[in-house]
Order: sequence, then structure tokens, then C-alpha cells
Amino acid sequence: MFRGSDDYPSTWYAATTVPRQQRRATPPPVEADVVIVGGGFFGLYCALLLAQAGRRVALLEASRLGWGASGRNGGQLVPGLSCGWGRLRAAIGAPLTAEMQRESQRALQQIRALIAERAIDCELADGHVEVAVLERRVRALRDAIDEARRDWGDTRLRFIERAELGAYVDSPRYRAGLFDPDAAHLHPLKYLFGVADAAEAAGATLHEGCRVSRWHEAADGVRLELADGATLRCAQLVLAAGAYVDSVEPRLAARVLPVGSFIGVTAPLGEAACRRLLPGNHAVYDNQFILEYFRTTADHRLLFGGRCTYLGGTPHRLADAMRANIVRAFPQLRGIGVDYAWGGHIDVTLRRMPDWGRRGERVYWAQGFCGHGMVPTRIAANLVVEAMLGEPARLDAFAAIVNPRFPGGERVGALLQALGMSWYRLRDLI
Ligand SMILES: Cc1cc2nc3c(=O)[nH]c(=O)nc-3n(C[C@H](O)[C@H](O)[C@H](O)COP(=O)(O)OP(=O)(O)OC[C@H]3O[C@@H](n4cnc5c(N)ncnc54)[C@H](O)[C@@H]3O)c2cc1C
Repeated sequence: MFRGSDDYPSTWYAATTVPRQQRRATPPPVEADVVIVGGGFFGLYCALLLAQAGRRVALLEASRLGWGASGRNGGQLVPGLSCGWGRLRAAIGAPLTAEMQRESQRALQQIRALIAERAIDCELADGHVEVAVLERRVRALRDAIDEARRDWGDTRLRFIERAELGAYVDSPRYRAGLFDPDAAHLHPLKYLFGVADAAEAAGATLHEGCRVSRWHEAADGVRLELADGATLRCAQLVLAAGAYVDSVEPRLAARVLPVGSFIGVTAPLGEAACRRLLPGNHAVYDNQFILEYFRTTADHRLLFGGRCTYLGGTPHRLADAMRANIVRAFPQLRGIGVDYAWGGHIDVTLRRMPDWGRRGERVYWAQGFCGHGMVPTRIAANLVVEAMLGEPARLDAFAAIVNPRFPGGERVGALLQALGMSWYRLRDLI
């Protein structure tokens, strides 16, 4: 069973954020209109939107707010879903997919608007570049630009030829790029605290150190039991436990595999060196199957993510492993110190499709963000909350997507995924 710790892992984010006062002191109410299990972005967005709609909302987080993937991720704020629009179109049809493409842009603008309205100091920086490592994947960048123009009239994306790529990223590894001026990057833990403040200001109560052990539907609503024996009753429940869901809802847990993903942050490089590496201060990810992503930080370090493990555990000598990846992209950083290195879990479904839905009018969830959740958690919250407020059509279209259980449970599922990934890793090389 997953057990969170009482405090944040030692990430660069935790080291550069003034911690919010711990919400442990506030015991949860015995009754609420809505209880939300999990204090990451999905849970907090639901808390914010439901409280704004006048619901009495209590959010329960087993550890600290943002302790899961939300408070330790790469901070890249890029529209779209992990599965890609083509696969979504095959699953839910062209009209709703076109609507989701617009919803994805709207979610990004909602995030920007919240940051502006509440003056959230989260180091927001504009612009994102998707780069191709392999010549044969340059085509995919051009296709994405054509698709955006054709399907939802988006003319902002720009193709970057290799010759001009140096103005975006100073690396010999990449062949071409796709520039999105509206995508962005930020400090996710600082931003998350801003979202938490907004949810509280709207009237939601947030409770840390409250692990939900079990729940069941009763005649008069949903009843929950916490690890310390306390009980709660609510009319509606939102399950927002991400990759850490496990025993609180085994049926959901069976459909996601918690895959380890890792980040390293270098020693300070200085502003001039950072601007040489990434002249526009944009975030970057590549379009490999097992992707790498990076950006520079406000204190002028390189934050670099990548590497996946399917069989649990952290790679041996993680900082050295991350340095090797950094130097492969930026040979000029050979010998650089890696001051911080950490991992987190992403919630991967078997076919990389979102797993969003509801059971009747009482129990709602969204999981399966597959490592791309900063914008999609806001999309999912929009759909889940509109369903809870009486408009379920768009959520139900997602709920109809079939996400199979991992065959043989987590252990065998992890082995199968590891085998699958070895195949993809090979295709990233040849
Ligand atoms: C290393 C890493 C890098 C990433 N980089 C990016 C990126 O750059 N851009 C991007 O778009 N996405 C990125 N992602 C993915 C993104 O962070 C996630 O998709 C998103 O944060 C998921 O949010 P969530 O609210 O669903 O889950 P989480 O943030 O994981 O929150 C779930 C919470 O539920 C709590 N919980 C679990 N069980 C219980 C229980 N029984 N009772 C109470 N609470 C419970 C957990 O403690 C946890 O805090 C990254 C993920 C990782 C791990």
C-alpha cells in the first residue's frame, strides 16, 4: 500500500517555497456536500470550482497539499492530452474532440487568469518548444501544426528549422522544433499553494494529514473512514488521488500503473549561461517515446526531467544518472553539479487514454493523466464539476472510454509495461 510521508520530498521546489502553515490542525467536518480525496491539482481545482458554486467542500489530503505529482513535476504548462488528439478522436468522435481542443486552450487561459487575478508569484514564463531528436520525427512536428490549423483554427504554432533552433535551445541533439508562444512554465508548488489559497477563499476547507482508508455508498450519501478512525458523510465524493490511489479505490487503481519519473536540478549556472542554453527562457520537451524535458529556473539552474521506471524504486545514484542525460543534451555542461534529484509517480493507463468518469450522481474521478497533467487536470475538473452541477454530457463521453485493467495486477502490469517500454526505447534509438 502507498504511504505518503508527513512532509515534502527534498525537491528544489520544496527548498524554494515558503511552506504554507500545515492544515493538520483543522479536523475535517463530520458532514459536507462534497468530499475530495487528494490535494493535487485535480482535487484543488474541483474544490475551487465547487466552492465557487456554493457547495460545502472538504478536501482531505493524506500528506501535504501538493505532496504527489502536482508539487514535484516539471512545471511545463502545455495544452493537449497525453494520448494525442488522433486517438481521442477515435474514442469520442470528431466534434467532441474539436471541443476538447478548444477546452484545452480555455483551461490554459483559466490557469493564466487565476495567476493574474490572485497575483500568484509562481515564476510564470511564456513559451514552449517541442523538439525532435530523430530526423524521421520532424514530420510529426509539421503534422501537429497542420492539425492545429485545420481542426481548431490555431495559427499560433510555428515550425523551427534546424538552422534557427539555436535561438531557442543551444544543443546539438535536436533537428527541428515546434514553438507554442502560449504554453508556459512555472514553479508548480508555488502555483499549487496559490490555487489552494483561492479554494479556501471561495469557502472550501483543506485538511492535511487526513488519509482516507475506506468509503462506501449508503442510503443517505457516501460515508468515509479516515486512518485515525474519524468518519465523515457527504452527498458527493471526488476521488483525486492520482497515481497514489491504490487501496482507497482498488477498482480505479487496477486501471493505472504508477510509473516512476525523475528530475535533476543543476547547481546555479548564472543568468548569462542560462540564456545561452535557452535564449528565450522557454520550456522544452522532445518528441521521443520516452521523453525528456527541461527549462531554467528563476535562480538560474537547469531543471531536467526524464527517465522512467516501471518496476518501482529510484535508479541507483539518481543525480549521476540525471547528469548523464543532461550532458547528452548539453555537452557544454560536462562535470556540472546536480544539487537536487528526485522522483515521483505518474498515473499511466494501458492505452495512455484519460480515465475520467462517475458512478451515478455520487462518485466522480479523474486519473490517467500519463505524465501530462498540468493543463489536463484543469480540463478534467471543468468536466467533472459541470457534471456534478447537473450537466454530465461531456464527462460521460469520456467515461465511455474503456480503460482495461492491467493484466495480472500491478506487478505483472509493470513487467509488461517495462517490456513495452524497452521496445519503445529501442525505437527512440534507431
Ligand atoms: C516527475 C514528474 C514530472 C512531471 N512533469 C509534468 C510537466 O512538466 N507537465 C505536466 O503537464 N505534467 C507533468 N507531470 C504530471 C502531473 O504532475 C500530474 O499529471 C498531475 O500533477 C496529477 O495531479 P493529480 O491531482 O491527479 O494527482 P497528484 O498530484 O499525484 O495528487 C494526488 C494526491 O492524493 C493524495 N492521496 C492519495 N491517496 C490518498 C488517500 N487515501 N487519502 C487522502 N489523500 C490521498 C496523495 O498524497 C497526493 O497528494 C509530471 C509528473 C511527475 C511525477
